[in-house]
Amino acid sequence: VERTLAIIKPDAVHKSEEIEDIILRSGFTVIQKRRVHLTPEQASDFYAEHYGKMFFPSLVAYMSSGPILAMCLAREKAIAYWRELIGPTNTLKAKETHPDCLRAIYGTDDQRNALHGSDGYSAAEREIRFFFPDSVVE
Ligand code: ATP
Repeated sequence: VERTLAIIKPDAVHKSEEIEDIILRSGFTVIQKRRVHLTPEQASDFYAEHYGKMFFPSLVAYMSSGPILAMCLAREKAIAYWRELIGPTNTLKAKETHPDCLRAIYGTDDQRNALHGSDGYSAAEREIRFFFPDSVVE
């Protein structure tokens, strides 16, 4: 089975129990789970691919503004299926076009979008190792 990294971001962490229920009901197994409060340096590292973009400083401030819940999820086609379940990046657009997706339900605005999902196989491997350095890669 495939694995992906999911994050419940600071704006949605107070809803994590509800969100975890949905995750389990959607056929995922939670392999590992960790509540962390990232430093700005750690948040910059995690989002290094966005360094230099206009929204980078506020993204780092947002992701280090409070605790998050990082989860390694497993399921058949976990990466694509989790991205589909969370929906479009921009919460405001998600509310219009995909009202049932998790970002539409739990997100706040174009930046504070409640959830993260790895966007491909190599990102998933890197991100799982970022939060769970001891995890075994099959
Ligand atoms: P994530 O990586 O968190 O799953 P994503 O892959 O859908 O999201 P990315 O393009 O990788 O989106 O952007 C990473 C994060 O940066 C987004 O989730 C959002 O919080 C923030 N972000 C992206 N684009 C913008 C923007 N134009 N304005 C403000 N924030 C943005």
